[in-house]
Amino acid sequence: MSATMETDILVIGGGMAGLALTARLGEAGLRVTCIHDGAAPTDDNAGEDQRTTAILMPGIETLRSTGAWEDIARDAQPMPAMRILDCGGKDRAPRDEALFDATETGGDTFGWNVQNGLARLALANRIAEQDSATLIAETRLDHWLARQDRVLATLSDGTRITAKLLVGADGRGSLVRQKSGIGLRKWGYAQKALAARVEHTKPHGGISIEMHHVGGPLTFAPLPGNRSGLVWMNAEAEADRLAALDDDAFLAELNERSHGVYGQITATAPRAVWPATTQVATGLTARRTVLIAEAAHAFPPIGAQGFNLSLRDVEALATLCAKADDPGAEALTKAYARQRTPDILARTAGVDLLNRSVRTELRPLRDIRRMGLSILGNTPPLRRLAMKIGMGT
Ligand SMILES: Cc1cc2nc3c(=O)[nH]c(=O)nc-3n(C[C@H](O)[C@H](O)[C@H](O)COP(=O)(O)OP(=O)(O)OC[C@H]3O[C@@H](n4cnc5c(N)ncnc54)[C@H](O)[C@@H]3O)c2cc1C
Repeated sequence: MSATMETDILVIGGGMAGLALTARLGEAGLRVTCIHDGAAPTDDNAGEDQRTTAILMPGIETLRSTGAWEDIARDAQPMPAMRILDCGGKDRAPRDEALFDATETGGDTFGWNVQNGLARLALANRIAEQDSATLIAETRLDHWLARQDRVLATLSDGTRITAKLLVGADGRGSLVRQKSGIGLRKWGYAQKALAARVEHTKPHGGISIEMHHVGGPLTFAPLPGNRSGLVWMNAEAEADRLAALDDDAFLAELNERSHGVYGQITATAPRAVWPATTQVATGLTARRTVLIAEAAHAFPPIGAQGFNLSLRDVEALATLCAKADDPGAEALTKAYARQRTPDILARTAGVDLLNRSVRTELRPLRDIRRMGLSILGNTPPLRRLAMKIGMGT
């Protein structure tokens, strides 16, 4: 195919963030096109992504504005409470805990846990129903020219597209970021996150559990039924070893480490391993270009923060675009950067600190962390403050 198309906002990347932005803009009647180099989400491939994502209430409001929320909610699990267990002792058993109850923040749930593949499917289905939004799958952005008045982009199939604004939602290795000359600060922790969906004998009651072990946290986020999304952070070699075990051996180690919090864990889906690194773009904009989500910021999956931060990018950008005659004007891209930079930098620093404190092998630091958790668990005003910070409100 070789043709020239016209759109107002060209979103590169059909991950959860790119699709959420496209559906959010499409629902507001803005002319938007999303280019995704992978397959379009379908019923058949929706289960392939092992990750689940805990989306907190402010982010749910953004998903409501995409028009896809009712569809997403059908397969999602509300999370009325969260438990953090300190397991930093010699026998790795829980030795202290803090329980966070959503009713203390005035709501009945902190948010909902969704399967990434199903959420992407619901968003893609909604985009297909919208008049002004389009998703083009299995096609890559190859190159582009950002002129004073518009962006001229060329796709891998030869299609040319003109747009007023180019949005890089193209993930950690963002081509949009690199080719726009925006720098990146990146560091690692020699850790990896293992993700899988598991089944267990005890009901979870909607409670997510984060167990702080030496080496990294073991987190269960509830899914409908007696199922949970698992994220298990470990030193790289250990994460690779766990991923390579057969299911029985893996379940035996997982049961030992989870100390029966959900009874027996009886089944696991195939496991996937993700690098735990932090990276943050040195800027969010270039001429007629902005970055959102993991193209701009990424960090280890701890504390359910990554995609929630991305949804705040989506909300800010969509709100600005809805009010603008020219969504690529410098005034808009600068306003976006002004609004989003402080939140992104603060959240990145906070998650970095949290991850370092959870994985530490130093005994005194582990004991201080345990004391902090105990104080938090027993001091309602501090607990409420921590919940507000965690929710990003
Ligand atoms: C194990 C794990 C658990 C997590 N749990 C949570 C959680 O509970 N809560 C939370 O808030 N966050 C969580 N996160 C973070 C969350 O999963 C990510 O932030 C989110 O999935 C990233 O979405 P994205 O759209 O930014 O990037 P991606 O999913 O990487 O999407 C970018 C897409 O762009 C496409 N692309 C790249 N280049 C091009 C190009 N040139 N042309 C066209 N397409 C292109 C890529 O194929 C890719 O699909 C977790 C992460 C992990 C690893």
